[in-house]
Amino acid sequence: MINRPTVKDYIRTIVDFPHEGIMFRDVTTLFADPRGFRMAVDQMLHPFAGQPIDKVVGLEARGFILGGAIAHQLTVGFVPIRKKGKLPGTTISQDYKLEYGEAIVEIHDDAIQPGERILVVDDLLATGGTAEAGIRLIERLGGEIVSCAFIIDLPELGGRKRLEELGMDVHALCA
Ligand code: 5GP
Repeated sequence: MINRPTVKDYIRTIVDFPHEGIMFRDVTTLFADPRGFRMAVDQMLHPFAGQPIDKVVGLEARGFILGGAIAHQLTVGFVPIRKKGKLPGTTISQDYKLEYGEAIVEIHDDAIQPGERILVVDDLLATGGTAEAGIRLIERLGGEIVSCAFIIDLPELGGRKRLEELGMDVHALCA
């Protein structure tokens, strides 16, 4: 029997990036491969077949690559959540804790209408801090989050539990 490659097979790990002791999951190798990229997008979409979704929200920066492809496939709009100071229009902001210090993410205040059904997309779920900040922004605009979809979940870092405690449905392709 031939073992077909899985999404995980296209992801490489870079040791000690961005600091010593971190094993960084590099998805650029997945995105660069036509079969790998299509497989990831198709598998991320699969759980939502037939479910009504109005918009895809992608988290900077790799969530833009995946979210754009997923929104195109669903024929819905795409909305970016960006780091502070990058969006040109009127925004709302949300701060969240990092390992060292704090970060702020923003969304345009007219990007989501109350009641719109939102799929949140990013490449990787670690502590869940980034996704939680994104969820708070979407909910502050009245969006209803259908699910949060990732390629990779690192469950030992607690992100899935944190998002599930917020009432989120969480999907990931691999650990
Ligand atoms: P969290 O906020 O869940 O702790 O971290 C997740 C965020 O950091 C995501 O936006 C993700 O893109 C980025 N991130 C953290 N670690 C990694 C990693 O090993 N690989 C990749 N590709 N992204 C990471």
